[in-house]
Parts: sequence; structure tokens; C-alpha cells
Amino acid sequence: MTVHQPPPPVETGPDARPHAVVIGAGFGGLAAAVRLTARGYRVTVIDKLDAVGGRGYVHRQDGFTFDAGPTIITAPFVFEALWTLFGERMEDHVTLKPMEPYYTIRFDDGRTFRCWSDKEKMRAEIAAFEPGDIDGYEDFLVESEKCYRTGFQKMIDQPFHTFGRMAAQMPGLIARRADRSVHGLVSKYVRNKNVRQALSFHPLFIGGNPLRTSGVMSLISYLEREYGVHYAMGGTGALARGIADLAERHGTAFRLGAEVDEIIVKDGAAKGVRLTGGETIAADCVVSNADAGWTYTHLLRNHARRRWTDRKVRRMNYSMSLLVWYFGTDRRYEDIGHHMILMGPRYGGLLKDIFDHKVLADDFSLYLHRPSASDPSVAPDGCDAFYVLSPVPNLDGGTDWEAMAEPYRQRIQDHLEQTMMPGLSDAIVTSKMTTPLDFRDRLLSTKGAAFGMEPTIFQLAWFRPHNMSEEVRDLYMVGAGTHPGAGLPGVVSSAAILDRLVPHAKELA
Ligand SMILES: Cc1cc2nc3c(=O)[nH]c(=O)nc-3n(C[C@H](O)[C@H](O)[C@H](O)COP(=O)(O)OP(=O)(O)OC[C@H]3O[C@@H](n4cnc5c(N)ncnc54)[C@H](O)[C@@H]3O)c2cc1C
Repeated sequence: MTVHQPPPPVETGPDARPHAVVIGAGFGGLAAAVRLTARGYRVTVIDKLDAVGGRGYVHRQDGFTFDAGPTIITAPFVFEALWTLFGERMEDHVTLKPMEPYYTIRFDDGRTFRCWSDKEKMRAEIAAFEPGDIDGYEDFLVESEKCYRTGFQKMIDQPFHTFGRMAAQMPGLIARRADRSVHGLVSKYVRNKNVRQALSFHPLFIGGNPLRTSGVMSLISYLEREYGVHYAMGGTGALARGIADLAERHGTAFRLGAEVDEIIVKDGAAKGVRLTGGETIAADCVVSNADAGWTYTHLLRNHARRRWTDRKVRRMNYSMSLLVWYFGTDRRYEDIGHHMILMGPRYGGLLKDIFDHKVLADDFSLYLHRPSASDPSVAPDGCDAFYVLSPVPNLDGGTDWEAMAEPYRQRIQDHLEQTMMPGLSDAIVTSKMTTPLDFRDRLLSTKGAAFGMEPTIFQLAWFRPHNMSEEVRDLYMVGAGTHPGAGLPGVVSSAAILDRLVPHAKELA
């Protein structure tokens, strides 16, 4: 009998590749890991949570799957590019389902406006509110495409760590009247108040106030129309997991449940990280996907900083926060679409309360997510999975969330029950809530902001914390806190910028 001996172990020498540590496994950190791995780095991703995704974490409870945060996927090409780096195809790993309609807006008087990819259907929706606004809508579309060419094509994956780069974009931004708000721009083209709301609320997706976010951000309207609005089957968590698997397949190591306490700096350069337990991990470069304010004020607290001092970080404007209530029902609400925006009685006044006065108002506008409308895997048979989110002031506002969260959630529940979801109180079989305190304590976000620094015109591009740190060599930033900012296309694009900035691994070897 022939006995087959196992082959002798292959002699592997020490890994000679330069080591990159990525702090945070949010979408920005995951995309950075993929790109650094493709560049020849040995990559370790460290996250304090027990799973990847960051704001795109997944809560599983009582047979329901709840995406914690992002649900609307736009610009699918920015995700596809990650798989292309390795000659793979995203569609072999993650299924993006186009949404039609994109979403339904329900105004306080019960009238609805559905957003479609189809221009004719959009014209009909607008005509139902104000036939006189159709021509203006066509002109708005032309302008939003110009904004896309200026604000997306020329800026989203470009570094802005020198003022010269910013200056080069100025003529384009001036031509687009970047000083005008999204709401101001939309109001130039359409007159009906509901149509104005329907075309201008998009900055809220990235933590901006439509009344003061630069009109260039109306590029989102073009992006949606041209490239669609998608849902990742299995939930956005499946997309995060898909990117993490891609990185892991090609050699990225993950350390989950480990919190970085400090970035180690020697001779002005990042040399690794120290975890909260005291363990140190050496690195040739460090990429922070953590909140930018937290990175500077806590992870670099022992390092003298020229620009991002504690005072400067504190004085920046931060996005609003959110109260998110996840709940499952023992019945299905078939009249409710996959993505619904429920406008409250006030628009401008409510935005001012949230962003300027920072008071918790009695009224609210909501985003209601019903993924089980498109995806049976997220809820048990005959049941629905939901989340409803309400934009609320960040922690600068001083609301006592320990005391206020539950009564506020109850008001939202009552509102849903009275308007669209009869019998809701009796139908709820599972429930979970996230408040601004969770953004601060679980995700380590400055002031509990849900989207990091607010995307106002003087907090964009060069004005934001740079992708290549101004404070420490070999430290890079990705994610919502740096350029280009919050939203999945933005944070994934920040890793494309990183790709332009880090030296190729071979140059370091
Ligand atoms: C409720 C909600 C709904 C949203 N909806 C949409 C949407 O529909 N579409 C869209 O495009 N965008 C949406 N967004 C915005 C989008 O989710 C975020 O902008 C984006 O996910 C942020 O990604 P990020 O790369 O900045 O990292 P984050 O998701 O912020 O992740 C950062 C990670 O770093 C980790 N971390 C932080 N500090 C440390 C440390 N010291 N040590 C170890 N780990 C650390 C955290 O645990 C976290 O996992 C939504 C956001 C929220 C909150």
C-alpha cells in the first residue's frame, strides 16, 4: 500500500510588503483596504465593532435583518471599480436591484410624489402638482447635469490637499454659482412648494441642510436619473460584506472588536497604532476611517497639531444627527413602498430648528424604509422589516436623549399608525432604537453627528480635513470626515483618492 505523505510546508520568509493599518471598517475603510491590497500592501483593518460596515452595520433580531444606516445605493460604478481592480465582477458577488420608483414622497396633506428614472413619468408627477413647472424642471435637469460634471466628475476622486487644486476648480464652481443653496437653485426653476421640496431634499442624504448646502450638490439628481437608485439584495450589509470578502480573498487581515486608542507618531510620521488594551501594531502607513474630529482630538491627542487643533475641530459645523427606529411587524403593509419620504407640515422651519436652533421640534419629517417590499430574506414569512429615521439636532443642541428618545419614538409610531400603518401598535414584534448618543459613543462621532462635518461650501474639498493628513506624514484619511464627504459614493471615492496619494508598495520595498 502506498502511503501519501502530506507535502512539506512551503518555506515562506517574513512578509516583505509594506504594512498599512486601516482604522475602521466602514465603507471608506473597506474600499481603502481593497485599494491598498491591490497596490501591494499588507493590510490590516481594525474596527471596534464586531462586524464590518460601520454605519452600514447590520442588526439581526428575532428573525429580522435591519440595515443600520445606508439603504439607497447610487453610482454603482464606484463599487464595481473595486472588483475590477482584481479582474473580478461585482455582479458575481453582490446583486444590486434597480428601484422603480426610486422613492415616494408623501406630503403632510396625504398627496404623493413618486420619483422615477423615466422622464415622462417625472413630468406627469410634476404636472399633477403644477403643470407650469414642467419647463422649469427640464431646465433644472440641464443644470444638475452641469453640476455633476463640475462637482462629481472633476472633484469626487481628486485630492484637495493643496490650495492650488482648490483654486483650479474655482472657475467651474463660480460658473455654477456654488454659493447658492440647493433649495435656492431649485427655486429658481420651479415655483410649486411641493415640487421644490421634492427636488431639493437630497442634501439630507449626506448630512446637509438643503437651505445652505451648495447648489452644486443638486448633482445628486443627475446621478440618480442617469445611474439609477439601487437596493443591495440581502441588504446594504451584503454590499459591505462583499467588499470585505474581496479584500480578505486578496490578503487583507481583519481585527474586529479591537479599538485603536492612539496613532503612534515618530519623527512626525505615523508608525502604527496602539489598541485600548495596550497592544501596539507597527505600520508603514496608517489610514484613518474613523471620524475626522475624533482622529485628531483623540487618536492624535499627544501630538501637537497646527490646523486640526481641539478648538478648530470643536468650531466646525457638524451635520444633524438621527433617531433611527428599527421594527418588525407580524403583518405586511403592502401599500408602503420600499423607500418613502414623509414630509412634515414644515420644511424650512424644521430645517432651521434642526441645523440652526438645534432644538427638538414637535413635528418631524421621516424616511421610512421597507426592504421587505423588495427582499423577502430580511423578514420572516408574512412579516415586514422597517426602519424609520428622523433627522434631529446633533449633541450641540443639548436635548436630553436619555429622557426624550422613547417619547419621541412613540410620537413617530403614533404618527405612522394614524397616517399609513393602521394597527401598527399591535403588529410590532421586535424593536430597536439608535439615538445621537449611539453615534457619539458607539461610532465615536464628534457631537453625535450622523454624517460628520456638515457639507457647507466652506467645509468642502480643501476646507475639509485632507485625505493626506496635514499634521502627520504617512497618515491618510478616508470616509465621511474627509473629502469628498458623506454618502456611500463619497466615502468609497475617498479611497480612490487615497490610491492617488499613497506610494506604490514597490517604491517603499
Ligand atoms: C441612518 C443612516 C442612513 C444613511 N443612508 C444613506 C443612504 O441611503 N445612502 C448613502 O449613500 N449614504 C447613507 N448614509 C451615509 C453613509 O452611511 C455614511 O456616510 C457612510 O457609511 C460613512 O462611511 P465611513 O467610511 O465614513 O465610515 P463609518 O461608517 O462611519 O465607519 C467608521 C468605522 O470606524 C470605526 N472606528 C471609529 N473609531 C475607531 C477606533 N478608534 N478604533 C477602531 N475602530 C474605530 C467605527 O466602529 C466604524 O465601524 C446614511 C447614514 C446613516 C447614519
